[in-house]
Amino acid sequence: MDKRSQRKGQFTDKLDVPEALTFDDVLLRPKESRVEPDEADVSTRVSTNVDLNVPILSAAMDTVTESDMAIAMARQGGLGVLHRSLDVEDAVAEVERVKRADELVIRDVVTAAPDQTVRDVDAMMEREGVSGAPVTGDDGDVLGIISGTDIRPYLEVGESDEVREAMTDEVVTAGEDVTAREALELMYEHKIERVPIVDEDGHLTGLVTMQGILQRREYQDAVRDENDHLRVGVAVGPFEEERAVATDEAGADVLFIDCAHAHNMNVIEGARAIKAQVEADVVVGNVGTREAAEDIVDFADGIKVGIGPGSICTTRVVSGAGMPQITAIAEVADVAADHDVPVIADGGIRYSGDAIKAIAAGADAVMLGSYFAGTDEAPGRVITVDGKKYKQYRGMGSVGAMQSGDGDRYLKDEPEDDEEYVPEGVEAAEPYKGSLESELFQLVGGMQSGMGYVGAPTIPEFKQRSEFVRVSSAGQTEGHPHDVMITDEAPNYSPTE
Ligand code: 5GP
Repeated sequence: MDKRSQRKGQFTDKLDVPEALTFDDVLLRPKESRVEPDEADVSTRVSTNVDLNVPILSAAMDTVTESDMAIAMARQGGLGVLHRSLDVEDAVAEVERVKRADELVIRDVVTAAPDQTVRDVDAMMEREGVSGAPVTGDDGDVLGIISGTDIRPYLEVGESDEVREAMTDEVVTAGEDVTAREALELMYEHKIERVPIVDEDGHLTGLVTMQGILQRREYQDAVRDENDHLRVGVAVGPFEEERAVATDEAGADVLFIDCAHAHNMNVIEGARAIKAQVEADVVVGNVGTREAAEDIVDFADGIKVGIGPGSICTTRVVSGAGMPQITAIAEVADVAADHDVPVIADGGIRYSGDAIKAIAAGADAVMLGSYFAGTDEAPGRVITVDGKKYKQYRGMGSVGAMQSGDGDRYLKDEPEDDEEYVPEGVEAAEPYKGSLESELFQLVGGMQSGMGYVGAPTIPEFKQRSEFVRVSSAGQTEGHPHDVMITDEAPNYSPTE
């Protein structure tokens, strides 16, 4: 060979490039196992102080996570991360909404006055959608309790009778520290359906209902904070101290510093400043390299990984930069594991198999956008195109999302009126999928199946025991249904184009 062609220099050296892999490049090597998939324990940590019962987060995007999604995610054991296109005030209200959901003690109690007429109270209860109400005096002391069964005979004989005559005046109350079990015992013992909560002076402060307790029981896997409220995450910009402090005070459990390239040193300084001011855990992202993780790991409660893998993302083609997701996760996890900091893999997950591969590569939890955008709990309405139902799904760096307020994840400054955006995402639609619960069931079930093939009963053991094999493009083709015409849609598989 010509000697000149073998010479190396500054630029030709650059062509000795390391390989970076993503989901389709690898498969989990099957191993000896005694693990039945449905017994695999998928509980994990999303940040140093916050545990989850399923290792799944819904993305901080305006077409994925507002309070409905966050409530549903936490009830199922995962975590919803509220997007940051909301005004700070609205973001606080959304956090409060999640925190109030499934509350044992209802705080905004519908009450009746003793001199109201039975007819009046009946109309009020109907309007408020309740079937009973504590009766309180002027200073809030509990005088009795009135319910549909007390009222009914009066409706027949005298609708204008006063509540004081119809109410039950021997009221069973409980103190602020009552537990669900104690409240239920009181209800069984006294054959009642609601227990007013009173302070030391006997003033009404809340209400516990049988219906509320039973509803909470439905969600055995729910993740709750130390006050028994559902957990919630909130995305904040690296320089948005106001949003960070306000949502932290409202009870946010984890703040996610939301940035397309968190290895920007200004972003890291901003994240540190926020971390110093809040009680919530602070997860920093997104990054995709070992060096970035090293610059963050000393203060972050979690590190989020993903530079351009997202389904609606055009970062890699627009900027020419990015990191295939399996390699990105592994590089970050190498560093994070040494400091016992959790890693979240964000973006690019299309199937449950991708999610469990992300865990094998070193993630503790995964974040998904497109997977959930078609569910009932995602914001936005269902649209019908050619008889098929869809919901809108758009990148937070798409023109539409940037125009409606959240450009700064992908922008330095807001463009003036006549300037154009340089988007890093597209606007799209996702097939309508129904409830989040059934989507999560498929996702978690598939991940447990992966744990079964590897023979690992828990997420930490799975991270240790799993190994990858490299897949050729022929192997990839073999891995999908092939040489057949699919006649019925599977709930967990749709072909990629
Ligand atoms: P998906 O689960 O749909 O593949 O990816 C969701 C993730 O994509 C989000 O959690 C977020 O990290 C990322 N993302 C959201 N919008 C955009 C965007 O417009 N551009 C880029 N580059 N990434 C986005």
